[in-house]
Amino acid sequence: MTATTEFNLINKYFNYDDAREDVALGVGDDCALLMPSPGKQLAVTVDTLVAGVHFPETTLPEDIAYKSLAVSLSDLAAMGAEPAWATLALTLPHGRKGWLQAFSTSFKETLQTYGVQLVGGDTTQGPLSVTVQLTGFVDAGKAMRRDTAKPKDKIYVTGHLGDAALGLKILNVRDQPDAMIKSTCIKKLNRPVPRVEFAQRVTAYCSCAIDISDGLVADLGHILKASACGARIYYDQLPASKAFRKAPVYFNNLDYEEMLLAGGDDYELCLVTAEENEMALFSLAESMGILLTHIGEIDTSAELNVINTSGEPIKLNVSGYEHFTDE
Ligand code: ADP
Ligand code: MG
Repeated sequence: MTATTEFNLINKYFNYDDAREDVALGVGDDCALLMPSPGKQLAVTVDTLVAGVHFPETTLPEDIAYKSLAVSLSDLAAMGAEPAWATLALTLPHGRKGWLQAFSTSFKETLQTYGVQLVGGDTTQGPLSVTVQLTGFVDAGKAMRRDTAKPKDKIYVTGHLGDAALGLKILNVRDQPDAMIKSTCIKKLNRPVPRVEFAQRVTAYCSCAIDISDGLVADLGHILKASACGARIYYDQLPASKAFRKAPVYFNNLDYEEMLLAGGDDYELCLVTAEENEMALFSLAESMGILLTHIGEIDTSAELNVINTSGEPIKLNVSGYEHFTDE
């Protein structure tokens, strides 16, 4: 696009007049100038969402805007960081006003919800793709990392698992047999709620976490690999929503075990901490109205075993669940 079109577009849709005190210069110059607080570490993350790959082509612009921020907010949450600044690299196939307005309004609203300021970006023409880079703050040494799990630590997850994966499977079913299933699962797919505030507070009791974006087995696997240990999780304790539990009546040809264990896009947190923190963890979650479920333990094996009610390991037909240490 021409320089003036680009300039007008940026000014119209991406120059919001919000002003955090730690932003000396936002959108408009060659760089943003930012003032991190002393004593804090910066947590920096970037994610790209490509149309047709990370979201269906039919996804609404307001949902794309929301999710592009939510996935990065979830990465900050996984470290226990407080979100502060965003940059946005947008590749657009067109300059359609309706699309841009809807995207911009939703993007701005979501930024405001989390107190984040958009401080810069880049705008280009091409197949639709949205890259959001977020920076947050965390007290030095307090970030939750993947490499701090220890044998005997307990494993917890927030919220429900599998709903987003189910949402993706039923997205294109024309006659939805059940409104509750549709709304729960498609909402989880398009509007996942990153656990931003809970995550910051939970750093008091937890130093190991990951957000579940690629599925529990894969993401817990990253913790096990980074921490050089194994784990057992109990299949029957995995938190499935009411909608998820009801769904097999209507959609009986889907692999629910796989969705629960390996379904992506839930953006819940998986937390690992010593047993002595359990009470504090549960009371924090309860005080914030967040469902928290104990799902297993870290052990000295080199694998992730999923255990059924009779104590037997379940043979998984999902990949990436064993031998984290010898790859
Ligand atoms: P440059 O060519 O110097 O990189 P650009 O023309 O790309 O400048 O951008 C001009 C200003 O607008 C910069 O401050 C840049 O950060 C900002 N900007 C460009 N695109 C976006 C966007 N999609 N969202 C927010 N800010 C943007
Ligand atoms: Mg540029």
